[in-house]
Amino acid sequence: MAGKSILIVEDEQDLVDLLSFNLRQAGYQTASAMTGEEALQKLRDRPDLILLDLMLPDVQGTEICRAVKSATETRHIPVIMVTARGEELDRVVGFELGADDFVTKPFSMRELILRVRAVLRRGPPGEQEVIREKVGPIRVDLSAHRAYVDGEEVQLTALEFRLLTTFLSRIGRLQTRAALLRDVWGMSSEMQTRTVDTHVKRLREKLGKARELIETVRGAGYRMVDPEES
Ligand code: CA
Repeated sequence: MAGKSILIVEDEQDLVDLLSFNLRQAGYQTASAMTGEEALQKLRDRPDLILLDLMLPDVQGTEICRAVKSATETRHIPVIMVTARGEELDRVVGFELGADDFVTKPFSMRELILRVRAVLRRGPPGEQEVIREKVGPIRVDLSAHRAYVDGEEVQLTALEFRLLTTFLSRIGRLQTRAALLRDVWGMSSEMQTRTVDTHVKRLREKLGKARELIETVRGAGYRMVDPEES
């Protein structure tokens, strides 16, 4: 079985070499791009994952993330951002744009490969769990990454879509903020759980009348309910 392909977007040649070597050792195929422009070209090869440095010579990495996550053909491709210390703001922007995870320089190769593995294992969302494709007025098309309420398409970001499908795979089960951070964002406690609240709020707004299916469990988290079962 051919290994999954990883596009390394990084302008430091030494780091590209080091990353390529270690990722290949771990069984992955790699390609690299040293500028944002080259990265956008190589996106056409449809890598399975993008490792994205935020500091590129020609363009901000966040712009690449935006491009990846806003195009229908590429938005399913997971992006791991590589940030330097002190780039918290970029990280927040990256997550807003749909980045899937991040590592902070300097990082160990072991840590990086664990992240890569976890992100690849995660997508498509809820691989091991069965996602209910229809609950009440909500319907999702998993292969097309589209969501509908009463047949009307709802425009969701990649992250909101993953949040929704995570709920759909765990109907009736309490999801703590920490569990959602772990399973949707792939993070332990590095970001404040307020992030979860912000995104759940936004998802609810977009779901309109179906918003009530996501209940708040006070002091604990959230739960999606099936109106036919309650
Ligand atoms: Ca750089």
